[in-house]
Amino acid sequence: MLFSRALIPTVKEAPADATNASHVLLSRAGYIRKVGAGIYDYLPLGYRVLRKVEAIVRQEMDRSGALEILMPALLPGELFKETGRWDLYGPTLFRIKDRKGGDYNLGPTHEEIVTDIARREIRSWRELPKNLYQVQVKFRDEPRPRGGLLRGREFLMKDAYSFDADEEGAKASYETMRQAYVRIFDRMGLTYRMVQADSGAIGGSTSAEFQVLVDSGEDAIVACGSCDYAANVEVATVKAVHDGGAAPTSEPPARVHTPGHGAIEDVTKFLGVTPAQMLKSLLYVAGTEVVMAIVRGDHDVNEVRLARALHVDEVFLAGESDVEKATGAKVGFAGPLGFKGRIVVDRAASLVGSGVTGANETDWHLRNVRYGRDFEGQVADIRLATTGDACPSCEAGKLTQYRGIEAGHIFILGTRYSAAMGATFIDEKQQTRPLVMGCYGIGVSRLVATTIEQHHDDNGIRWPMSVAPYHVHLVTIGREDAVLAAGKALYDALGSAGVEVLWDDRDERPGVKFKDADLIGVPLRVTIGGKGLAGGNVEVKPRTEVDPKKAELVPVADAARVLAERVKAALAGPAR
Ligand SMILES: [Zn+2]
Repeated sequence: MLFSRALIPTVKEAPADATNASHVLLSRAGYIRKVGAGIYDYLPLGYRVLRKVEAIVRQEMDRSGALEILMPALLPGELFKETGRWDLYGPTLFRIKDRKGGDYNLGPTHEEIVTDIARREIRSWRELPKNLYQVQVKFRDEPRPRGGLLRGREFLMKDAYSFDADEEGAKASYETMRQAYVRIFDRMGLTYRMVQADSGAIGGSTSAEFQVLVDSGEDAIVACGSCDYAANVEVATVKAVHDGGAAPTSEPPARVHTPGHGAIEDVTKFLGVTPAQMLKSLLYVAGTEVVMAIVRGDHDVNEVRLARALHVDEVFLAGESDVEKATGAKVGFAGPLGFKGRIVVDRAASLVGSGVTGANETDWHLRNVRYGRDFEGQVADIRLATTGDACPSCEAGKLTQYRGIEAGHIFILGTRYSAAMGATFIDEKQQTRPLVMGCYGIGVSRLVATTIEQHHDDNGIRWPMSVAPYHVHLVTIGREDAVLAAGKALYDALGSAGVEVLWDDRDERPGVKFKDADLIGVPLRVTIGGKGLAGGNVEVKPRTEVDPKKAELVPVADAARVLAERVKAALAGPAR
């Protein structure tokens, strides 16, 4: 592609609402343009990358034996009504009325539609297993669309659905998908972890997320440095407990005046104690009850586990007025002594030998507080795993906390949809049984943005070869005939070798061209200038090399071969 003929509208300014690197860079480098809130155009470069991600996903899905189909994006409301999701989805579902007043919705995901196919087309155990997938546009009316392609209201997704005769078959289908996902994320050149996830309201029995490790990611995960263990902090098992340092006190609880010091950091500083000595007492609403959860000051409450310990579906942090009503004190001064409601104490907090906690009186705390002596409660593991915790899976490993972006999710659905919609089959014993389903998603357009979140620097994008819009960015300096002729020759030779080249043939200053090349982020840059050419050389620089002096001189005659080999090697090997 000749730059002069292309549509690559690079700009200096990022959109005002862009906070993520990917949103800023995709906009500045001319890959996408906003059409409406959470709705984007893919300009030529953006669409090339989207199609490359899609191609990798499609190749690996096909290789795994999955069958590609295409279901509609516009869906009759009846299907979601059959499973109850018409109501469950709430305002996130885009609802439409047709001219006859009929209910329709735009597909946010396609479980009902694919289950409808299965109930019509699958009859016998002999036809199983089946895995049907599609790459289709999805719609979700997000309350706050943000991050450009990270969380849009219209986005491209690959969603696959497996159908098996039993749980064992479903597990085999799940394992096949897991392996396909590993190949997909490896080929994309991403650093990621497959983590145990909470299947939440979907009710799956086996579930994992593919988290791309990015500091700006919205999910917190912990991973072991010594083995494969990784989990969302909400589901990570907390193994070891340590006592926070202080020996059990024999002193009785003592009131201390802590005027205005409600927050953990303030109190610890004011009293000269460590956060691990604080018994952080938080109030939660669980059903109709207000309960107290106690964790150490250096730990956080795992609300999923707290809910489980209390045998409720969900807990909600109590509001200010609830806290004041339950403790008689302002937020920041709650504590277990004298608290009338139920108390759940984290295992680590229960071992604190001499704790500091709120006195249930505004501006007062208590020192020398010990669980078992001064207060009682249900002991359970209700804290989030964090950096430094012992790995629950291996002997010596320690957990480190990372932030990630969820780029894929695989789980076994069971019979929730098939049972609700009557998608059954006849088994070997002539019995009618519901199909056992699995479902497997990858956010294709989100992966475009996620890749940039992991691969960029201050100057622009640094695409892995496998998804880059072009393999080689050819820059010619000046308008000399010799330079243009050498450029044309290299451009043609690379094209014949199957290398995708963007040739910046514009009549622009070198500085402008180099700036654009860095911003656009093609993995290999080759520069042809009069001076180099006089010495018989062109200059090759990988986008990952930031030092301008480190450009490599390659003889003109070898340039096409050398570049083609590097492209080939990068595409074959790990692309990172
Ligand atoms: Zn481990």
